[in-house]
Amino acid sequence: MKRIAIDMDEVIADFVPKHLSIFNDKFKDNITIENLKGKKLRELRPELKNEIINILTEPAFFRDLKVIKDSQEVIQELSEHYEIFITTAAMEFPTSFTEKYEWLKEHFSFLNDLNFVFCGDKSIINADFLIDDNARHFKRFNGQGILFTSPHNMNETEYVRVNNWKEVKEYFLK
Ligand SMILES: [Mg+2]
Repeated sequence: MKRIAIDMDEVIADFVPKHLSIFNDKFKDNITIENLKGKKLRELRPELKNEIINILTEPAFFRDLKVIKDSQEVIQELSEHYEIFITTAAMEFPTSFTEKYEWLKEHFSFLNDLNFVFCGDKSIINADFLIDDNARHFKRFNGQGILFTSPHNMNETEYVRVNNWKEVKEYFLK
Protein backbone atom coordinates (compact mmCIF):
# COMPACT_ATOMS: atom_id res chain seq x y z
CA MET A 1 0.00 0.00 0.00
CA LYS A 2 1.19 3.50 -0.78
CA ARG A 3 1.48 5.95 2.08
CA ILE A 4 -0.21 9.32 2.40
CA ALA A 5 1.01 11.74 5.08
CA ILE A 6 -1.56 14.37 6.05
CA ASP A 7 -0.96 17.63 7.89
CA MET A 8 -3.33 18.80 10.66
CA ASP A 9 -3.70 22.59 10.84
CA GLU A 10 -5.50 24.06 7.83
CA VAL A 11 -5.83 20.61 6.24
CA ILE A 12 -8.01 18.64 8.67
CA ALA A 13 -8.21 21.15 11.57
CA ASP A 14 -9.76 24.54 10.77
CA PHE A 15 -7.14 26.75 12.35
CA VAL A 16 -7.59 30.16 10.65
CA PRO A 17 -11.14 31.18 11.74
CA LYS A 18 -10.42 30.64 15.43
CA HIS A 19 -6.99 32.29 15.31
CA LEU A 20 -8.43 35.28 13.46
CA SER A 21 -11.41 35.76 15.76
CA ILE A 22 -9.24 35.64 18.91
CA PHE A 23 -6.83 38.10 17.29
CA ASN A 24 -9.60 40.51 16.23
CA ASP A 25 -11.18 40.41 19.71
CA LYS A 26 -7.90 40.93 21.49
CA PHE A 27 -6.54 43.72 19.32
CA LYS A 28 -9.85 45.35 18.26
CA ASP A 29 -9.06 44.62 14.63
CA ASN A 30 -11.28 43.62 11.72
CA ILE A 31 -9.15 41.36 9.58
CA THR A 32 -11.13 38.98 7.39
CA ILE A 33 -10.17 35.73 5.70
CA GLU A 34 -10.24 37.71 2.42
CA ASN A 35 -7.45 39.97 3.79
CA LEU A 36 -5.32 36.89 4.39
CA LYS A 37 -5.19 35.86 0.73
CA GLY A 38 -1.55 35.30 -0.08
CA LYS A 39 -0.22 36.03 3.39
CA LYS A 40 -0.18 34.93 6.98
CA LEU A 41 -1.60 37.02 9.80
CA ARG A 42 1.90 37.70 11.13
CA GLU A 43 2.87 39.18 7.74
CA LEU A 44 -0.21 41.42 7.73
CA ARG A 45 0.47 42.70 11.26
CA PRO A 46 4.25 42.25 11.68
CA GLU A 47 4.32 44.60 14.67
CA LEU A 48 2.21 42.04 16.57
CA LYS A 49 4.12 38.97 15.46
CA ASN A 50 4.88 37.72 18.99
CA GLU A 51 1.34 38.32 20.18
CA ILE A 52 -0.02 36.45 17.15
CA ILE A 53 2.17 33.46 17.91
CA ASN A 54 1.37 33.64 21.62
CA ILE A 55 -2.33 33.07 20.92
CA LEU A 56 -1.34 29.56 19.84
CA THR A 57 0.26 28.78 23.18
CA GLU A 58 -2.92 29.59 25.11
CA PRO A 59 -4.22 26.49 26.87
CA ALA A 60 -6.52 24.40 24.70
CA PHE A 61 -6.21 26.55 21.57
CA PHE A 62 -5.94 23.45 19.37
CA ARG A 63 -8.40 21.31 21.32
CA ASP A 64 -11.68 22.58 19.87
CA LEU A 65 -10.79 23.49 16.29
CA LYS A 66 -13.51 22.54 13.81
CA VAL A 67 -12.90 19.62 11.51
CA ILE A 68 -12.35 20.65 7.88
CA LYS A 69 -15.33 19.69 5.75
CA ASP A 70 -15.39 16.14 4.34
CA SER A 71 -11.94 15.27 5.73
CA GLN A 72 -13.21 12.50 8.04
CA GLU A 73 -15.26 10.73 5.36
CA VAL A 74 -12.58 11.00 2.69
CA ILE A 75 -9.72 9.91 4.96
CA GLN A 76 -11.77 6.94 6.13
CA GLU A 77 -12.32 5.95 2.51
CA LEU A 78 -8.68 6.53 1.57
CA SER A 79 -7.58 4.36 4.49
CA GLU A 80 -9.03 1.34 2.69
CA HIS A 81 -6.59 1.84 -0.19
CA TYR A 82 -3.64 3.69 1.31
CA GLU A 83 -1.67 3.74 4.54
CA ILE A 84 -2.61 7.01 6.25
CA PHE A 85 -0.37 8.97 8.61
CA ILE A 86 -1.23 12.27 10.28
CA THR A 87 1.98 14.29 10.33
CA THR A 88 1.98 17.54 12.28
CA ALA A 89 4.94 19.81 12.98
CA ALA A 90 3.83 19.90 16.61
CA MET A 91 7.36 20.82 17.76
CA GLU A 92 6.51 24.36 16.65
CA PHE A 93 4.09 24.46 19.60
CA PRO A 94 5.16 21.84 22.15
CA THR A 95 2.38 22.87 24.52
CA SER A 96 -0.11 21.59 21.92
CA PHE A 97 0.82 17.88 22.08
CA THR A 98 -1.95 16.70 24.41
CA GLU A 99 -4.60 18.86 22.76
CA LYS A 100 -3.69 17.66 19.30
CA TYR A 101 -3.67 14.04 20.44
CA GLU A 102 -7.08 14.37 22.10
CA TRP A 103 -8.45 16.13 19.03
CA LEU A 104 -7.30 13.29 16.78
CA LYS A 105 -8.78 10.69 19.14
CA GLU A 106 -12.08 12.53 19.10
CA HIS A 107 -12.38 13.14 15.35
CA PHE A 108 -10.19 10.48 13.70
CA SER A 109 -10.66 7.57 16.08
CA PHE A 110 -10.69 5.13 13.14
CA LEU A 111 -6.94 5.71 12.68
CA ASN A 112 -4.40 3.84 14.77
CA ASP A 113 -2.55 5.94 17.38
CA LEU A 114 0.71 4.69 15.91
CA ASN A 115 -0.12 6.49 12.67
CA PHE A 116 -0.02 9.86 14.43
CA VAL A 117 3.38 11.49 13.87
CA PHE A 118 4.24 14.55 15.97
CA CYS A 119 7.40 15.90 14.38
CA GLY A 120 9.47 18.96 13.60
CA ASP A 121 11.16 18.91 10.19
CA LYS A 122 8.85 16.95 7.87
CA SER A 123 11.64 15.94 5.50
CA ILE A 124 12.13 12.96 7.85
CA ILE A 125 8.71 11.63 6.76
CA ASN A 126 8.95 8.68 4.43
CA ALA A 127 5.69 8.63 2.46
CA ASP A 128 4.59 8.64 -1.16
CA PHE A 129 2.43 11.75 -0.75
CA LEU A 130 2.26 14.67 1.66
CA ILE A 131 -0.90 16.77 1.82
CA ASP A 132 0.00 20.08 3.46
CA ASP A 133 -0.88 23.78 3.28
CA ASN A 134 2.75 24.84 3.79
CA ALA A 135 4.76 24.41 0.60
CA ARG A 136 8.03 24.74 2.57
CA HIS A 137 7.54 21.13 3.75
CA PHE A 138 7.74 19.88 0.15
CA LYS A 139 11.21 21.27 -0.55
CA ARG A 140 13.10 18.32 0.96
CA PHE A 141 10.27 15.78 0.90
CA ASN A 142 11.02 12.76 -1.29
CA GLY A 143 7.46 11.96 -2.34
CA GLN A 144 4.78 14.00 -4.11
CA GLY A 145 3.75 17.18 -2.33
CA ILE A 146 0.08 18.12 -2.61
CA LEU A 147 -0.78 21.67 -1.60
CA PHE A 148 -4.06 21.99 0.28
CA THR A 149 -5.56 25.41 -0.38
CA SER A 150 -5.49 27.85 2.50
CA PRO A 151 -5.77 31.66 2.24
CA HIS A 152 -2.02 32.16 2.81
CA ASN A 153 -0.94 29.87 -0.05
CA MET A 154 -3.26 31.23 -2.80
CA ASN A 155 -0.33 32.59 -4.84
CA GLU A 156 1.78 29.44 -4.72
CA THR A 157 1.89 27.89 -8.18
CA GLU A 158 4.69 25.36 -7.99
CA TYR A 159 2.78 22.33 -6.69
CA VAL A 160 -0.20 20.12 -7.37
CA ARG A 161 -3.10 21.85 -5.62
CA VAL A 162 -6.31 20.54 -4.07
CA ASN A 163 -8.97 23.01 -2.94
CA ASN A 164 -11.00 20.75 -0.66
CA TRP A 165 -11.41 17.12 0.43
CA LYS A 166 -13.68 16.26 -2.51
CA GLU A 167 -10.72 17.07 -4.76
CA VAL A 168 -8.40 14.97 -2.60
CA LYS A 169 -10.78 12.05 -3.08
CA GLU A 170 -10.81 12.61 -6.82
CA TYR A 171 -7.02 12.77 -6.97
CA PHE A 172 -6.50 9.49 -5.13
CA LEU A 173 -9.55 7.40 -5.98
CA LYS A 174 -10.34 8.31 -9.58
MG1 LIG B 1 -0.76 23.15 8.25
